[in-house]
Amino acid sequence: MRIGRAAGVTDTGRKRLRNEDAFICEPPLFAVADGMGGARAGEIAAGLAAAALEEADAETRGAEGIVALIAEANRRIWERSLSDPATAGMGTTVTAALVDAASGTVAIGHVGDSRAYLLRDGAIEQLTVDHSLVAELVQSGVLTPEEAERHPQRSAITRALGTEPTVEVDAFTIEAAPGDVFLICSDGLSVMLSDEVVAEIVFSADGDLPRAGEELVRAANTRGGEDNITAVLFELVADDGVEPAEPAAETEVEGDVEAEAQESGSEAEAGAIRGAASTDTASGSTPPDADVSDPSLRRHGAGPGGRAAALLLIVGVLVVGALVVYWSISR
Ligand code: MN
Repeated sequence: MRIGRAAGVTDTGRKRLRNEDAFICEPPLFAVADGMGGARAGEIAAGLAAAALEEADAETRGAEGIVALIAEANRRIWERSLSDPATAGMGTTVTAALVDAASGTVAIGHVGDSRAYLLRDGAIEQLTVDHSLVAELVQSGVLTPEEAERHPQRSAITRALGTEPTVEVDAFTIEAAPGDVFLICSDGLSVMLSDEVVAEIVFSADGDLPRAGEELVRAANTRGGEDNITAVLFELVADDGVEPAEPAAETEVEGDVEAEAQESGSEAEAGAIRGAASTDTASGSTPPDADVSDPSLRRHGAGPGGRAAALLLIVGVLVVGALVVYWSISR
């Protein structure tokens, strides 16, 4: 078995001002981190997590390897939060998958509510159990899964990376089969789309994973785009020695600047519990333009490039002399 196509996409969504998600799409390692904290702390936390995970090397193997990487990421975020008061209380989710193509296994580790799914034979299976308030209430029988989906506190997580000196990581290994597609996503996707819709979109793309990723983002935005949206997809295929692996595609869809980007949700967030659904009133309706970029290493949701691009967009809008409303949000 070997890794076939892979794709990563992230989008600010329609209601948040910034993208505090980060992802890694660097076979054999794939991950999503969803940062939280006031000011830019969420971006910093997710970026630190991604940077720590990217230090995986050939010695990093299996569930134990993933746990060690995530523990190191936790240590770095925690220490930064102690030394930099502006980032106190910051944290992030992380869900990471490390493929061992030779053995046909995928090790998955996670903290928080970013999810891993397996799409196989026309069906979708959620592999991770959210470390969230509503997931715990479902497990204890207080809420039904349907009630959890609509619960106002559905984004509150009970475990995060970087908010304590140590962290408990859930990790396990999946026996993969040729044709399997794995999806890792932030809650900005899974809250907006049911599993059935996710499965339909991915299977409809018929193996075109970059397209599947963009369609997932588009669908989440169509349903409101209340949070940053990130999806990483990869497939495992039979190692027949015929078809060379295509390079991973990475896409960053920056800022839907037409939305009245207010971020009442994340600015007020603190500690390990994220705020409930934001009360923003975004009005954007134009689908975000995909910006398919160089597949080389690129940190998402954490670098200055994305902010610069968003600023350029805003400036461009001003120059064109578009709607007066833009003046009020451009600074
Ligand atoms: Mn989120």
